[in-house]
Amino acid sequence: MTQGKLFVISGPSGAGKGTICKRLLEEDNNIRFSVSMTTRAPREGEVDGKDYFFVDKEEFEALLGDNGLLEHNCYLDNYYGTPRRQIVAWLEEGRDVILEIDYHGAFQVRESYPECVLIFIMPPSIEELEERITGRGSETEETKQRRLREAMGEIAQADKYDYTVVNDNLDTAVARVSEIMESERNREE
Ligand code: ADP
Ligand code: 5GP
Repeated sequence: MTQGKLFVISGPSGAGKGTICKRLLEEDNNIRFSVSMTTRAPREGEVDGKDYFFVDKEEFEALLGDNGLLEHNCYLDNYYGTPRRQIVAWLEEGRDVILEIDYHGAFQVRESYPECVLIFIMPPSIEELEERITGRGSETEETKQRRLREAMGEIAQADKYDYTVVNDNLDTAVARVSEIMESERNREE
């Protein structure tokens, strides 16, 4: 059976990665979303095992020590990482897998899976990014400012990605990512 393809989606907090991934999953039932593990506290409405596996530092470090993470990073004082086992199983089943992770993680994944496809989601402007983070209502003023400061360094990495998609109009951005995924799948066939 043909192996699935691995897609990595990154972009600054508030760019719309989660929103785009949700739409992609609704539209294509061969796609699987890798649920990351994090030590950050859940936001209102986030579900353990669906949005993230919410764990404490000890649990995170235990899995890391067992080589159970494909990649990991520390972002704004919390650990985030990609559990390895499920991804390997899905790829072997022929599923396409999306990882929604930051650039540190993306470049680690590219080391282990050089054939993976890296897609960067770019906000239309910093002003719009700030409005989206504010509109999401998930951050305090302080954590919002920290996320915005991180955003500049993240955007500077976009040229190392295979594709950059500007998320101005949501439908257009979803269609563009979908098109990229389709053409990358066909490339190997
Ligand atoms: P990320 O996962 O990159 O941190 P989210 O998907 O949580 O970002 O999106 C941040 C906020 O911006 C959410 O409130 C979402 O509804 C909104 N949003 C996402 N895409 C768009 C868009 N194209 N136009 C306007 N608002 C958007
Ligand atoms: P958030 O707290 O907004 O959910 O995520 C913060 C940042 O961590 C985002 O850039 C997000 O893409 C990234 N992230 C989420 N999961 C992972 C992961 O498993 N690994 C890495 N390296 N980054 C992640």
